[in-house]
Amino acid sequence: NQATLAVHELDITFHLPEGEFYALHNISFEIFPNEVVGIVGESGCGKSLTAKAIMGTLPQNASITRGNMIFQNRQLHQMLDKDWQRLRGNELTMIFQEPMNSLNPVLTIGKQVSEVLKRHTSLSKKERKQKVMKTWKEVGLPRAEALWKAYPHQLSGGMCQRVVIAMAVIGQPQLIIADEPTTALDVTTQAQILDLFQSIKQNYNNALLFISHDWGVIRRICDRVMVMYAGRIVEQGDVDKLMNEPKHPYTKSLLQAIPNASKRGQRLYTIPGNVPSLQERKTGCPFYERCPLKMKQCEAVFPDTYTFARQTVACHLFAKEGEHH
Ligand code: SF4
Ligand code: MG
Repeated sequence: NQATLAVHELDITFHLPEGEFYALHNISFEIFPNEVVGIVGESGCGKSLTAKAIMGTLPQNASITRGNMIFQNRQLHQMLDKDWQRLRGNELTMIFQEPMNSLNPVLTIGKQVSEVLKRHTSLSKKERKQKVMKTWKEVGLPRAEALWKAYPHQLSGGMCQRVVIAMAVIGQPQLIIADEPTTALDVTTQAQILDLFQSIKQNYNNALLFISHDWGVIRRICDRVMVMYAGRIVEQGDVDKLMNEPKHPYTKSLLQAIPNASKRGQRLYTIPGNVPSLQERKTGCPFYERCPLKMKQCEAVFPDTYTFARQTVACHLFAKEGEHH
């Protein structure tokens, strides 16, 4: 079974007036067909930047300084603009938090969804409309004829996100990246959209990279999860196992910070301190300042990654127990 996407030892560097700074460091992971992989972490840890690196939409002042990404046998970092135009929005698609930002306010919904097919297929106008209608059915969009002529502002947030999802799946992509796709929605709509993601996985056999800061969402939708901190993957593994038996002190702190209905009235646990900025990152463990279990060697030396069955953890605490990498 071949990975849909394989990211190997990727470094992303920001070129700032003050110097060069690692934004992502030594990122390696794979996503297989039919798999949902989550990325979880606080904001500023590199979740969205990882998505941008894969999509080839890094900011001007950032670049790949080491490693590679292989998507369906193609080296993404070596692709030309014309290759990207074929790939992006077709085989490799992205869904963002705010659906309104992905829709053009002055174009009808029908026009903008069928535009995706116009760009990437040779279907006739009539065939495009049929395909759009079929896709709308699959993503739970009712009253297709009325929707065809509607404008984005006439739809609810949840409907807009379904339209965006329709645009993301219509070309039968191999990989969809969703960056906090339910964060802007109310709780009921959020649950419906998560159900939709689950049915998409079954219907389209694609791989899904799902970025969220919400463990409830991660547990519900993902098979595996990666925990990012300050531009590093500090832990990864199967979702249930990792959430039941977190190993990395950061993962443990994040899980303790989950709002818990049974603890109502108690103060929510938050992790003291902040994610270090790009300029503040040093050579040691990036979690050093905030880690309740830090040891002497953690300050100067970045920990190696240790493997326990299907779980990996980058922390000096596991130097004796795990299999060394
Ligand atoms: Fe804490 Fe040290 Fe592990 Fe970093 S390496 S998470 S500072 S114990
Ligand atoms: Mg983000």
